[in-house]
Amino acid sequence: MSDVYLNGRFMPMEQALVPVMDRGFIFGDGVYEVIPVYDRIPLALERHLDRLTNSLKGVRIPNPLTRTDWKMLIQQLIAREPEAVQSVYLHVTRGVAARDHAFPKDTVPTVFAMSKPMAPPPAEWLQQGVNAITHDDFRWLKCHLKTTALLANVLLRQMAVEAGAVECLLIRDGYLTEGAASNVLVVVDGILLAPPRNHLLLPGITYDLVLEIAAKHNIPFEERPVSESELRRASEIMMTSSTREIVPITVLDGRAVGSGVPGPIGKKLLSLYQKLKHP
Ligand code: PMP
Repeated sequence: MSDVYLNGRFMPMEQALVPVMDRGFIFGDGVYEVIPVYDRIPLALERHLDRLTNSLKGVRIPNPLTRTDWKMLIQQLIAREPEAVQSVYLHVTRGVAARDHAFPKDTVPTVFAMSKPMAPPPAEWLQQGVNAITHDDFRWLKCHLKTTALLANVLLRQMAVEAGAVECLLIRDGYLTEGAASNVLVVVDGILLAPPRNHLLLPGITYDLVLEIAAKHNIPFEERPVSESELRRASEIMMTSSTREIVPITVLDGRAVGSGVPGPIGKKLLSLYQKLKHP
């Protein structure tokens, strides 16, 4: 494992220790970002940094670094990691303070960052698709912020794992929001449907890139609410994320999705997405 970054210094992971009174540990009071890196080049870096800025603003943690400093830090992390395909992880908490819910005064945010090799999704997932389950979305109402307080997502993903599935798709008030750790797009009547970007889901960078690809290549799509019944009659379902790209979901709650194999629209999107990585 290459050195990690903590509060201005690179060090071996074992030495990167945070005081127990860090509000990240005590309250989950922090935000994070994950950036995929191909051939040592971060994909859609500006968008990831925009989202980080927005998450920090959303939880009112002052941005501890300038954009130039974030970029320099990311470049250093990438250079230190031997593998060319990596995922960079950035993490900012409100800092260390006596335990009190309200914001402490004059606390310096904690900044942690690392990069590690990123394995592509297993070939079998792309050839056969994966299993997913559904569950009521019991998260809070600021899911557009990428916060480290992920307990609900953790519980939901664990339910999927215990059911032998790869992802848990979330339904709120009869509509699809996203997955426990991914966005979800579906194909209904030949149209790619994407749940709208609002406070109920994370504005995924992969989701963004996929919709841009659809627009550019005349794949019909709509960004609009997707009802549970549309999800259940979809001919294709796919999950998107920076680390897993576009993965077809071919079994939902034990029933085949469409014909039970990865569909043409998902395959086309994935092959076009692959080109973004090696332009
Ligand atoms: N939604 C959630 C809840 C996530 O955790 C993630 C990232 N793992 C995504 C969506 C996908 O976002 P991105 O494409 O930016 O990785």
